[in-house]
Amino acid sequence: MNTDDRRILIAGGGPVGLLCAWLIGRRGLPVRLFDNNDGPQADPRAATTHPPTLDLLADDGLADVMARAGLVAPIFQFWDRPSAQLVAQFDHAVLKNDTRHPFVVQCEQFKTAKLILERLRKCPSVEVLFDHEVLDVTQAADAVSVQVRGPSGIASHTGAYLIGADGGRSAVRRRSSIKFEGFTWPERFIVLTTLYDFEAERGYCYRSYFADPGAWCNCFKVSADGPPGLWRTVYPTDPAHSEGEIMSDTGVQTRIQSFFPSSVPYEIVHRNLYVTHQRVAETFRKGRVLLAGDAAHINNPIGGMGLNGGIQDAVNLADKLIRVVLDAAPERLLDLYDLQRRTVAIEFVQEQSIANKKRLEARDPQTRERNLDDLRRTAANPERARQFLLRTSMIASQRRAEAITLPGG
Ligand SMILES: Cc1cc2nc3c(=O)[nH]c(=O)nc-3n(C[C@H](O)[C@H](O)[C@H](O)COP(=O)(O)OP(=O)(O)OC[C@H]3O[C@@H](n4cnc5c(N)ncnc54)[C@H](O)[C@@H]3O)c2cc1C
Repeated sequence: MNTDDRRILIAGGGPVGLLCAWLIGRRGLPVRLFDNNDGPQADPRAATTHPPTLDLLADDGLADVMARAGLVAPIFQFWDRPSAQLVAQFDHAVLKNDTRHPFVVQCEQFKTAKLILERLRKCPSVEVLFDHEVLDVTQAADAVSVQVRGPSGIASHTGAYLIGADGGRSAVRRRSSIKFEGFTWPERFIVLTTLYDFEAERGYCYRSYFADPGAWCNCFKVSADGPPGLWRTVYPTDPAHSEGEIMSDTGVQTRIQSFFPSSVPYEIVHRNLYVTHQRVAETFRKGRVLLAGDAAHINNPIGGMGLNGGIQDAVNLADKLIRVVLDAAPERLLDLYDLQRRTVAIEFVQEQSIANKKRLEARDPQTRERNLDDLRRTAANPERARQFLLRTSMIASQRRAEAITLPGG
């Protein structure tokens, strides 16, 4: 194979695409990555990075740099909003024998992407092409090609494999006719970011979840541009309300005041509205096309699992692609990627993120009481707390994925 025949093409320069490029490129394989933006985006979405993801990123010190750029959060809390009671508190320290990182790191995804991009700049075999939009995909027996619109027009690029890491609306997935199975929540989710210090003023820790009949809130701190940092609060919105109503000054003050009443208006630094889905691609591999990250699976953000799953995909996929292309391992290793990562996307991430939402928004008084009691009892029992955290921190799903083998070995 000459160099061009071994090239890995990547659509999407979000954290997942960039990580794939770095993991593959640092082994000397040629990589060409296309992103339709004109440069890295200040994306305010993900921040929570769970222990097994940090374990995967510890190589080359990335997890440590993320911890320094972000905030270390060993504890998370569940609160009952109507009674303002702390229901349960979980400390990741109980996972000290399960992970090298018994805490989460709150590092905004644009910072993670920037840290990876800095590493990529030192990787001579990787080309990162911003302002390049992947339009179409065609496959032959021994190669895959993409049509890409760049500043000087449309051109075709060919490689050995294509990774579709181009997000939830993935053109790679659509142009490869891979179905994206699941559903869309009727309510949109709003993120309101404020300077208000929820820890000093109300005693909330860096990750706090609020249960409320028919509603919920995630409240968490990010380091932003440095002290004092910012607090992000995430809520469902009323499907009957228009975007204009929801995003208006009155709309956002009403939303945040309904959870955290205050005599003075909140200073809202950012407001973002998201349509949210629960979907998994029908396959993560179709011939020479491989899907990773949001292109392969999307879920609601309660529990912070989407990007974590995407990073876990990237590490799994990069390892297998390197073995196939550099070490002539059998191509069916790529089917194992699909089997391992798709299974846990369905069994763990979809199931857990939907359960997280239902637990917080339960309306029926008896169901609410049962949910909150269960959380109290779980937190009070160290072994039950450990089992709970193994699942919420995605250690259980990583272990499950690693244990999966192809039928016939
Ligand atoms: C409010 C909110 C909070 C969240 N919080 C968390 C959290 O705390 N923890 C967590 O794990 N997850 C969280 N998530 C989920 C997380 O944001 C996503 O899972 C993550 O962004 C996925 O990364 P990605 O690289 O796969 O896709 P993206 O970040 O969407 O990146 C895809 C990239 O591909 C580019 N692209 C798209 N189409 C094309 C094309 N045709 N050609 C070239 N480029 C293209 C896009 O411009 C983009 O740069 C949250 C999501 C939301 C909405």
